[in-house]
Amino acid sequence: MIARPPLAEEKLEMLIGGRWTAAASGDYFESFDPFTGKPWALVPRAGVADADQAIEAAAEAFRGAWRTMTATARGQLLCRFADLVAEEAETLAVLETRDNGKLINEMRMQCRYIPQWFRFFGGLADKIEGRVIPIDKPGVFNYTRREPLGVVTAITPWNSPLMLATWKLAPALAAGNTVVWKPSEFSSVSAIAFAKLFEKAGFPKGVVNLVTGFGSEIGDRLVTHPAVAKVAFTGGDATGRRVYQSAAGGLKKVTLELGGKSANIVFADAKMEAAVPGLVSGIFAATGQTCIAGSRALVQRSVYDEVAEKLVAFARTARIGDPLDPETQVGPITTEPQRRKVLDYIDIARSEGASQLLGGKAPDDPAIASGWFVEPTIFGNVAQSMRIAREEVFGPVLSIIPFEDEEEAIAIANDSIYGLAAGVWTQDLGRAIRMPERLEAGSVWVNMYRATSYLSPFGGYKQSGFGRENGRTAIDEYLQEKSVWIDAGNSIPAPFVQR
Ligand code: NDP
Repeated sequence: MIARPPLAEEKLEMLIGGRWTAAASGDYFESFDPFTGKPWALVPRAGVADADQAIEAAAEAFRGAWRTMTATARGQLLCRFADLVAEEAETLAVLETRDNGKLINEMRMQCRYIPQWFRFFGGLADKIEGRVIPIDKPGVFNYTRREPLGVVTAITPWNSPLMLATWKLAPALAAGNTVVWKPSEFSSVSAIAFAKLFEKAGFPKGVVNLVTGFGSEIGDRLVTHPAVAKVAFTGGDATGRRVYQSAAGGLKKVTLELGGKSANIVFADAKMEAAVPGLVSGIFAATGQTCIAGSRALVQRSVYDEVAEKLVAFARTARIGDPLDPETQVGPITTEPQRRKVLDYIDIARSEGASQLLGGKAPDDPAIASGWFVEPTIFGNVAQSMRIAREEVFGPVLSIIPFEDEEEAIAIANDSIYGLAAGVWTQDLGRAIRMPERLEAGSVWVNMYRATSYLSPFGGYKQSGFGRENGRTAIDEYLQEKSVWIDAGNSIPAPFVQR
């Protein structure tokens, strides 16, 4: 078990223009440890004046040292940062777990994996090339430059705080932009530790700015400030919609990574010893607090009873407890309001007639009574019309939905406003190829679930958002293309005719 030592600093600071600072108002807010249910850190509560300062610092850095640095030097800085994150991975993982209550094993995996993003995109920094175009006008030389956008506002959620920030910061910085990052108010402590490493790596002042505070207070300003060129957002769809609307006023570029209601589909020909743990890991591994949660288990009717029984038996054994204990398999919910929301959805499912097969309440164990827990919960015979099958719960609640054949599986899986991810469990090669073709989802896993990499694109179909993170093309989301025309001939063109 890892101890819960107090933080070295009594009051934390945010990073604006290379300066570690309190909010201009002097206000702080408490960050809570979801396992103890108690506050454990004091974080600056930034206001609009702080947001403005951060954006202005980012704009100045973009015009200054960052713009003139060679792409190779920029890439090397990202790689140096990656090394520092690797050195501090354990410390960062513990901060993440204390802030959001997710399993230490999961946060360790993420913090050890994050450096790969900075190395990958750092490596791409000096491979951003334009094109020479064989233009159809004699004597004219035409080429393109791919240039950064300017100031990027990165707004991130609490469920995988540093990983999801990395998906934005690494390509944005590699492309030569400067960044103002607002982490979730529920997970700012690890963000502050991460930002310190940018400073230590030697990033010029103002290239990375961290503004901590409430989205309801500063979010709008961070999106609408005239100097912001792009907003990269991950969060819930209601907030995403609002960000998109605000950004439209200033015609800002936007990428949105939003919620999901992903189908994890088990066919009768699946290898059950892999499929059942696959369903469990799809929903319970992160206490259901992941956008790609496989919250709808679609199970072929001929194996429905067998799968439901095995699933319940397997999930029943999950060890619920302290997320800092490496033996724990299900940790608390990150916030108390989110826990209430999950319990409300459980009530809704019952009232709509879903049959509860497991869980459905907070655990009885007095040893974890102070934490914000909900038991792994499974509902059987869920109809696709029920709210539990349509709305994102973002908690450890699985709906099992029966289907007859491939056609019906596709129809149910695609009957969602979301399209973030899907899983398919089958030993039939043809089906393993056919299903991904027809599923409306940005990621499809066959005989596996919940894998992501810096090498492969990630993003949503439909209302799960737009734009892609990860993979080589993610850097394009942070670049714009300029066409340069040079007249290399001697002729004097006619002034009143377009060339
Ligand atoms: P929210 O939408 O509540 O918050 C996301 C971020 O937006 C937070 O930093 C929040 O700040 C900020 N915010 C809130 N209001 C505004 C505003 N008016 N303007 C600008 N920013 C604002 O999401 P959660 O943090 O609750 O995260 C969970 C959600 O994220 C789930 O729906 C999940 O599916 C989605 N998600 C999507 C992923 C994907 O890649 N598609 C990955 C992971 C999660 P504050 O915390 O201060 O409110």
